Amino acid sequence: MLLTVCGLIAQDAKLPVLIIDGQNNHNWKGTTPVLKDALEKSGRFTVEVSTTPANADEFANWRPDFSKYKVVLSNYNGQNWPIVVKIAFEEYVKTGGGFVCIHAANNSFPDWPEYNKMIGLGGWGNRTEKHGPYVYVKDGVLVRDETPGPGGSHGPQVEFTVDLMPDGKEHPVTKGLPDSWLHAKDELYDRLRGPAENMKVLATSFSNSTKRPEPMIMAIDYGKGRVFHTAMGHADHSMKCVGFYTVVQRGSEWAATGGVTIPVPKEFPTKDAVVPVK
Ligand SMILES: [Zn+2]
Repeated sequence: MLLTVCGLIAQDAKLPVLIIDGQNNHNWKGTTPVLKDALEKSGRFTVEVSTTPANADEFANWRPDFSKYKVVLSNYNGQNWPIVVKIAFEEYVKTGGGFVCIHAANNSFPDWPEYNKMIGLGGWGNRTEKHGPYVYVKDGVLVRDETPGPGGSHGPQVEFTVDLMPDGKEHPVTKGLPDSWLHAKDELYDRLRGPAENMKVLATSFSNSTKRPEPMIMAIDYGKGRVFHTAMGHADHSMKCVGFYTVVQRGSEWAATGGVTIPVPKEFPTKDAVVPVK
């Protein structure tokens, strides 16, 4: 009896997530609470936040304990973490820890090669052809374009459609989602570039700037770890939509466990309308 009870508890245990914020050219104070709400509303996670200290001495001594968490979610775009934290983070993901990269977190750390491998694609921070190819869809096929040039751009914020790629129709994170849905007003990142190794593009969105589908949802294997990366999520208003909530919940669960049990809600958006989170 006791074993059964313990077994049930183990199976139902919530997955601990650590959100990192504290520096970002975006309103992280406004978006971290939304990300926390998205994860907690699923009932699948417990969420803690580690905010990098503003004081330089305290920042130098900031030591998050990644090993306590099944997944680390970055809402951080700022100065390099202390070297021991970078090494600990590489080790954490390499040995099976989950990582979730949200929007401008893919702007961070342009000169940290292992980070660029984890996120697959990034932008800004003087990213160029030295960081890897542009990756986008041409004639229905994912291409790696080695053309020299800067990485990272976007047009004005708009509502836009997210379209599943063939890999997205099979992947645990996005399987069962509609082929296309409308996403809340957001920046549509384009011209991202990076090593793009061991990366599946699960969904794209058509950019009016580049006139081509650009990667929007990615799944990357890094060592034994799994990385879920979405280029969406510029602001709180971009996040407070059922599509974004669902994708972040399922992406985080997959990064933590390799599987997804969180269902696709009945109210998941269609191509016709954004569905705000209540
Ligand atoms: Zn942005």
